[in-house]
Amino acid sequence: MLRVALDNPSRSPSPIPFLDLQAQNLQIRREVERKIAGIISSSAFILGEHVDRFERDFARTHDVAHCLGLSSGTAALHTALHALGIGAGDRVVVPVNTFIATAEAASVVGAEPVFVDCDEYGTIDVGRVEALLAGDAGGNGRGRIKAVIAVHLYGQPARMSDLCAVTANHGVHLIEDAAQAHLAEWERRKVGGFGAVAAFSFYPGKNLGAFGEAGALLTNDTVLYERARLFRQHGEVERYRHVTVGHNYRMEAIQGAVLETKLQYLPEWTKQRCARARVYDDGLAGIDGVETPSCRSEAGSVYHLYVIRARDRDGLRRHLAKQGIETGLHYPVPLHLQPAYAGLGYARGDFPVAERAAQRVLSLPLYPELSDSQIERVCESIREYYAEHST
Ligand SMILES: *Cc1c(COP(=O)(O)O)cnc(C)c1O
Repeated sequence: MLRVALDNPSRSPSPIPFLDLQAQNLQIRREVERKIAGIISSSAFILGEHVDRFERDFARTHDVAHCLGLSSGTAALHTALHALGIGAGDRVVVPVNTFIATAEAASVVGAEPVFVDCDEYGTIDVGRVEALLAGDAGGNGRGRIKAVIAVHLYGQPARMSDLCAVTANHGVHLIEDAAQAHLAEWERRKVGGFGAVAAFSFYPGKNLGAFGEAGALLTNDTVLYERARLFRQHGEVERYRHVTVGHNYRMEAIQGAVLETKLQYLPEWTKQRCARARVYDDGLAGIDGVETPSCRSEAGSVYHLYVIRARDRDGLRRHLAKQGIETGLHYPVPLHLQPAYAGLGYARGDFPVAERAAQRVLSLPLYPELSDSQIERVCESIREYYAEHST
């Protein structure tokens, strides 16, 4: 077998990785190396001018007043909930089909996540959110539910206009988990300023990725911003004067330098992601067994991930793996079925839309540097699978 492959290279085309950061690193490497050399010379490794500039630029890009650079997206969510004063005895509404960090933010401040299903677009089901808020004893912010976290899943914003209205009606905070949605838009307005506060992640694989861990929060609320800033650094107002108990959630200077540099390229990279998504849409059209991702007309997705719904998903995934095509699952287990949240008393069947999606979602490789011919190869392999496995 191996000999055949070696003798006939056309039969074993090069693998297509799920993510390839190398190509992007090459584009910015010189600029970043120069900045890192400066950081080494100054030995100012934490916060500093690069982080300041990145915060200013990132806030501007999203048309939001304040940005706070942090050590991860998880830290940003934690800081957001802390700054809103959410804690023990409170409840926070969280969609079940997200990365666990969204729910952990509620748990680490001592609150309890209240899970809710998603709709057919994969974002939080606003009708169900409204029902939860209406049923919350007390109502108008006097109940136990204090906040709703909307996740802009895969880069597609949740229904922000309705979520703003519903949360305002019931007097609870709206938080955006925008970890996957840098520069995404709802009704032509950038995410990040719809709720009280928004959390972003710059984990290397995100649309805007650091050279390590990093995150940020955006807010238009100056009081909230100041509270978050204190929390980022041990509640310190001046050296060794701590007015409140905080954390160490500072962003590193090197990450600030990388992000400040990459942010200039992000609009172009985002356009390329969207263009790649269109190539997939066309290439996968008409395959019986595959549903391509659908977007609301109000949503300007930035395609952090290109997620199809596939019949016999695991079979297709194995077939693609054999062809050297790497795929991902976002996410295979909804949060209410995670062992970590077994204590909350949810059961299989509680969130049918998310549970069904978990069995069918498949994330295909998507990054700005992916070529059209690579995408066509992925589509061809998928077409081939369903031709051999028709119902
Ligand atoms: C990546 C991610 C996070 C966490 O960000 P980190 O920087 O990895 O801590 C939170 N929520 C969602 C939806 C994410 O995709």
